[in-house]
Amino acid sequence: VTDRPVPVPDDTSGPFWQAADEGRLAVAHCSVCHHAIHPPAPVCPACGATEPAYVFRAVSGRGVVRSWTVLRQAFLPGFADDLPVVLVDVALEGTDDLRLIGRLMYAPADGLRLGAAVEVAFEHLDDGSAIPAFALAPEGEAAT
Ligand SMILES: [Zn+2]
Repeated sequence: VTDRPVPVPDDTSGPFWQAADEGRLAVAHCSVCHHAIHPPAPVCPACGATEPAYVFRAVSGRGVVRSWTVLRQAFLPGFADDLPVVLVDVALEGTDDLRLIGRLMYAPADGLRLGAAVEVAFEHLDDGSAIPAFALAPEGEAAT
């Protein structure tokens, strides 16, 4: 059992978390303008549709690091044992540069660079759910 806050899926974000639990990264696409949107907002930020009727489609999960930050202090309960935590801002391949912020697993921030290729990884919680995160892609497999 963890003390940390865990995702609480709602009607809009449910399919995102459901896919994660199944080991897939699926992001919302507006059914009006077809842009990938994350997080899925009630009003589509790309076209302003008030009924975007999002369709969740699997994406490759590959992307490039656009920015990152290192958390050295836990501001929320349940993370203290995991410090330092590296959060990466990733431009997802095939999504019009959709940004997804997630934890970088298995790697220290040392050696991280802008444009580093990453691929989706999943952090598994004690309750069986999963949170999309990222891992450095094997060298030489740069995502474009
Ligand atoms: Zn739209």
